[in-house]
Amino acid sequence: MKNYITHDEWCIVENGFHAEYNEITESLMSLGNGRMGQRGNFEEHYSGRSLPGNYVAGVYFPDKTRVGWWKNGYPNYFAKVLNACNWIGIDIRIGEEMLDLNTCEIETFSRVLNMKEGVLERVTTVKLAEGRRIKIHSKRFCSMADDESGAISYKLTPLNFSDNITITPYLDGNIKNRDANYDESFWNELHKETGFSQGYLILETKPNPYGVELFRVATGMAFDIKLNGLKAGYQSLPVKMDKYVAGTVKMEVKEGQELSVYKYGVNLSSTNYPTEKLLEECKAYVARIAEEGFDQLLEAHMQAWATKWERNDITIEGNIAAQQGIRFNIFHLGQTYTGEDERLNIGPKGFTGEKYGGSTYWDTEAYCIPFYLSTAEQKVARNLLVYRYKQLDKAIENAEKLGFSEGAALYPMVTMNGEECHNEWEITFEEIHRNGAIAYAIYDYTRYTGDESYVNDEGLEVLIGISRFWKQRINWSEEKGQYVMLGVTGPNEYENNVNNNWYTNYIACWTLRYTLEIIGKLWTQDSRKLNEIIISTNFSLNSEMDAWKHIVENMHFPYDAKRQVYLQQQGFLDKEILTVSDIAGERPINQNWSWDRILRSCFIKQADVLQGLYFFEDEFQMADIKRNFEFYEPMTVHESSLSPCVHAILAARIGLKDKAYEMYVRTARLDLDDYNNDTEDGLHITSMAGTWMSIVKGFAGQRVKDGLLVLNPYVPEQWSSYSFRIGFQGAALLVSVSKTGVSIQNTSGKSLTIMLRNQRLFIDAFASAKV
Ligand code: BGC
Repeated sequence: MKNYITHDEWCIVENGFHAEYNEITESLMSLGNGRMGQRGNFEEHYSGRSLPGNYVAGVYFPDKTRVGWWKNGYPNYFAKVLNACNWIGIDIRIGEEMLDLNTCEIETFSRVLNMKEGVLERVTTVKLAEGRRIKIHSKRFCSMADDESGAISYKLTPLNFSDNITITPYLDGNIKNRDANYDESFWNELHKETGFSQGYLILETKPNPYGVELFRVATGMAFDIKLNGLKAGYQSLPVKMDKYVAGTVKMEVKEGQELSVYKYGVNLSSTNYPTEKLLEECKAYVARIAEEGFDQLLEAHMQAWATKWERNDITIEGNIAAQQGIRFNIFHLGQTYTGEDERLNIGPKGFTGEKYGGSTYWDTEAYCIPFYLSTAEQKVARNLLVYRYKQLDKAIENAEKLGFSEGAALYPMVTMNGEECHNEWEITFEEIHRNGAIAYAIYDYTRYTGDESYVNDEGLEVLIGISRFWKQRINWSEEKGQYVMLGVTGPNEYENNVNNNWYTNYIACWTLRYTLEIIGKLWTQDSRKLNEIIISTNFSLNSEMDAWKHIVENMHFPYDAKRQVYLQQQGFLDKEILTVSDIAGERPINQNWSWDRILRSCFIKQADVLQGLYFFEDEFQMADIKRNFEFYEPMTVHESSLSPCVHAILAARIGLKDKAYEMYVRTARLDLDDYNNDTEDGLHITSMAGTWMSIVKGFAGQRVKDGLLVLNPYVPEQWSSYSFRIGFQGAALLVSVSKTGVSIQNTSGKSLTIMLRNQRLFIDAFASAKV
């Protein structure tokens, strides 16, 4: 655990340069706008520890799979989000000396990510050779208002000398992914061009044998230089090298003068423009934003952030670390996915690193959707559902590759375009519960928004595909006289190839039930629509529905009558039942134990049975949930970032307030304090939605029941009060919870009836209520 980030309500602050943690800080201070993003790297050359990272949403490379032992059904490639052209770079030479914070003496240093404004700022004074001191002040953002662009203001002031300063703003496409399987470069250069104070580079992904489309990205830059705030006359010398363009400007700068470089960057990708138009569009875009200028672009960008915060902010009184933690999570979720484009999704690391390939996991449906449902326009969560709908054909193909048929769909564990990218048999073939989360998200969206058009128009086809998969994956056990599901991996990846994982069995049956319910509803509401779906999916109404019903009524759910707990899987109790406190010095077990030992142990990576109780809370008695929580939580090592939040929500529900808070802290500052020693790889973006849920669903008890928004809030002892903003079915609420009461302000023109602490409460448009 690290503790070098200064606590502040709105900012992530590094005071004094921590070179040894630079890659961590770069992750923490990443910027993005849903379309492009980058790590918090320095603009000028830096020879110390750094992971330069620039990413363009939806642009990836199918990197040839690397496995020890090939198994039929493994995918041929792993789609990797591409580390793309570096557009932020500005090399600086003072006289003959290259400015490099790794080699000069740093006198003062502060790097601040202002989350309210979405701006990364750095002020530092350094001492160069011969005691020459210079001040650097940089500011940059990825524009939330103009989401294919970003801008930098970079200022230099010689403090005790006068000399020539050479500035080289550049675009560099000589970039490799650090996580490339074979250390290959994934980019080819197609075109480069320079002009006065500008440069363009078109890169294309290398050809691949997997039939994956090639992506082109046109990156453009323009820059402008001022001296003491006034337009400076200068010449810009064009530089062209392999996958590199720059303009070099040499200027004489006197002691105390401020030299300002304004650099504008644009990334346009072939996913959004016809390839033959990329260059022309890029030039026009660059010209437009350079003309608007840094201040105006910044203003529009800050306004866009202000609008976002009006929908999604959470305030916490009485604990700055907690306040900073939650805003940090909300900020990164806000810049990772904006819901503008249904082809995009939320990689576990967003734009902050390369790990996990940048692809889509079940994390989106199980964790992220509730956040976007409550804090963004309806279309944002809907687009995440549409993403899966558009990939249904691929999910059916994916299931066919594994031997399933007749329209059974298995969504991939990891994907960019719908094709499976994961290649560990115990996960690729067995961690099939992901299918259930995709079905659950359709239900979650429908009950939250009240919008049935998605499930009727698109979702039902997805549900039918998934239900068909469950039907074929489940088999009848003569011995048990029940249906069973063999050879699976549940959410707890510290168990593989188990039989009858309770969670997977439960979510499979639930999917069948829900699909039957939706078919039944559509039958009465819109039989013509249902008929269309029956035809398009070749659905055999009676026989398929009967088979599903039979499974629902006769599924095996492992249970221990003595302890009255659901068993994570068949045979779970054969294990030596220990608690995490028994292995105190040996954690994380995934870095200390052999896999064999992990598999044989009772220790649980992340919520498994409890994931099910969290999803389906309404189907269980509180006493049941409590008993299971108290049985499983002490065995849980929370070695997935997705784990603590589910525990926080359940603990809050069953009245274990200390535990709920402990789990909250763990999720909220996971990256800020580098709990798992892996923040340098990038941030845990998807689990950030879990942090938000820990407050809103945990401490505030937000649920939806019978079409009503339900709140059961309390204030954790460690805080004096908190407030959060959520939207629900067209209304927008500001909910403030203190130790003495709850006040709800309806900031929208739509009245709403909610259930607050088990009482119906009507809140008129633009009115407030206090309880
Ligand atoms: C977790 C998975 C998760 C993945 C990506 C793994 O460590 O066990 O549940 O989908 O990380 O976040």
